[in-house]
Amino acid sequence: MEQSPARPPSARLDAFVDRYAARTAGMTASEIRALFAVASRPEVVSLAGGMPNISGLPLDVVGGAISDLVAQQGAVAMQYGSGQGVPELREQITDVMRLEGIEAHPDDVVVTVGSQQAVDLVTRVFCDPGDVVLCEAPSYVGALGVFKSYECEVVHAEMDAHGLVPEALRQAIASVKAAGKTIKFLYTIPNFHNPAGVTLSAERRPEILEICRAEGILILEDNPYGLLGFDQEPMRALRADSADNVIYLGSFSKTFAPGFRVGWALAPGPVREKLVLAQESATLCPPQFSQMAISAYLANHDWQGQIKQFREMYRGRRDAMVDALSDLMPASCRWNVPDGGFYVWLSLPPGVNAKAMLPRAVTARVAYVPGTAFYADGFGSNAMRLSFCYPTPERIREGVRRLAGVLEAEMELRATFGAPDQGKPALGSSGYDSPRIDLS
Ligand code: PMP
Repeated sequence: MEQSPARPPSARLDAFVDRYAARTAGMTASEIRALFAVASRPEVVSLAGGMPNISGLPLDVVGGAISDLVAQQGAVAMQYGSGQGVPELREQITDVMRLEGIEAHPDDVVVTVGSQQAVDLVTRVFCDPGDVVLCEAPSYVGALGVFKSYECEVVHAEMDAHGLVPEALRQAIASVKAAGKTIKFLYTIPNFHNPAGVTLSAERRPEILEICRAEGILILEDNPYGLLGFDQEPMRALRADSADNVIYLGSFSKTFAPGFRVGWALAPGPVREKLVLAQESATLCPPQFSQMAISAYLANHDWQGQIKQFREMYRGRRDAMVDALSDLMPASCRWNVPDGGFYVWLSLPPGVNAKAMLPRAVTARVAYVPGTAFYADGFGSNAMRLSFCYPTPERIREGVRRLAGVLEAEMELRATFGAPDQGKPALGSSGYDSPRIDLS
């Protein structure tokens, strides 16, 4: 391929920067984005990105389904479609959700461009600048980015090894109410949390629902990993027991492939109508071709068997990571052992700053995401997210070995020269105190 010519410097583009809308102040590159360029070099073991490992997909089967689609229904598949999504696919989505105890009507499903767009549309529909969104501590960086871009204030509530702590949720609600602010919803990832790896226990689910019902708080249940449990059947969704105050988000990115960019929202009637309008103004309609390809795949392929294969592959990688951590990490580190999903949350020895250490880690050819990426308020410097989804088990072990070496050097340095002043973690603009977590 020919190289593009160098772009001439443009003074005019700079001239418009001061005209950006105020909301763009919240649109900053995530720490993960900034990392992608280095982390994707082949010599670096990336434990940073959360890319699904789709190498197990039967590409011949998918290719066959797509060429049949073009041959038989190409004129429809390549046309604009409904803003709500293809009816057959919405019907199939209700079958997928039934695996988590959800009984839903296809009319209440809105197909979106990945579940990422569903987070965006729900926020667009509900949030004015200054509204509060409650999130777990830590929370998904992509959702925090959406909330920031709509100028929401994020208030975190603590998790432990069993997921969101009900008492922490109560306290967060009380502190926001005392400040006279409006909570628009609780954003939660109950299963195989990104980034924390934990799952909200079955015992806690009714309590979380009850707290939100009593306080009149809507729940945004984001569940892209729910079918990727390693040892157990899928957990019952929050939405399965509360149809009127939960918006449920699902995705085919982790159970099939992210390149199609198909996810969905299941929402109570009036909200669903607004979401369709928001979808139409954002994209006119979600991609018809992708939806029909996924629909054909679901109809003609053993997709549940495929998910089982994915689960086994990810379980092997989880085992590789936790075995390597146990064998190689300094004793003062702590981590959890996730039952599913892609991530381990690693807490570092006191005083070690994951963000400050990252350049040294990359020099040692290993990458991770510093914990601060997953907090809206500056916390998390003493932790990191490690992804086990993508590299092979051997590479995972090698990555952990390199990381352990970097950490040991860091700790030795600190022992010799004392701790550098890391400053106090900043409090959010709200001034709410944010908790630390122990997920192990
Ligand atoms: N929610 C969570 C918790 C995620 O981890 C991700 C992807 N990393 C998404 C939503 C978005 O996924 P997609 O848009 O591909 O469905």
